[in-house]
Amino acid sequence: MHTDSYRHRGLRRTLVEELRRKGIRDERVLAAIGTVPRHLFFDPAFQAHAYQDKAFPIGEGQTISQPYTVAYQTELLQLRPHDQVLEIGTGSGYQCCVLLELTSHVFSIEYQPVLFERTRKRMAALHRAAHLFCGDGSLGLPQHAPFDKILVTAGSPTIPRPLLRQLRVGGSLVIPVGDAHTQRMMRVVRESEEEFSRQVFEEFRFVPLLGQAGWNE
Ligand code: SAM
Repeated sequence: MHTDSYRHRGLRRTLVEELRRKGIRDERVLAAIGTVPRHLFFDPAFQAHAYQDKAFPIGEGQTISQPYTVAYQTELLQLRPHDQVLEIGTGSGYQCCVLLELTSHVFSIEYQPVLFERTRKRMAALHRAAHLFCGDGSLGLPQHAPFDKILVTAGSPTIPRPLLRQLRVGGSLVIPVGDAHTQRMMRVVRESEEEFSRQVFEEFRFVPLLGQAGWNE
């Protein structure tokens, strides 16, 4: 079941070229997309969809993000090899594995227990060593803070304060912020203990960030 073939590697090379054409520039990010076998994050019945540049349902009303979105967010993070990074919204675990290609200190938190359990098993089977948690990631992971980078892979109505507090000075948060239909990608940098700067990028459409500092259920 966990096989990666010559054909899959070819499909990934084609996907990487597509992402390059769409504007992804960071060669380390492109190499990570070219390395992680995205088809292994799909149910076997749907693996034929894995190398299209599209989001895809993963159950529980959630999706594996479009490869372009994964590459875009990862590029904005500007990860260095020793960065400690927190991902909010583990989902299938694919983005988490892309992050693991760029730093070995990856923490990821998922809200839906069914997805958490499935992905925990998948990551173990793939021998990918991230620190996985189940809970409300809109509150971050205070027991493991501070983080150099925080990545939110669900759409948030605002920038959750707990996440800002858990950033190291000099660190950055990448998060889509907006309403239920569209969100703007934002990067917030913690310039000092009290000062933050923000940049606004392209528009995206994510599933909602639930929880206390997200869209309250
Ligand atoms: N990064 C994922 C991947 O590579 O498959 C895709 C993430 S999907 C677009 C968004 C995920 O965020 C969903 O799995 C959803 O359950 C999760 N989520 C939503 N609100 C959350 C919260 N408060 N804490 C943690 N995860 C949350």
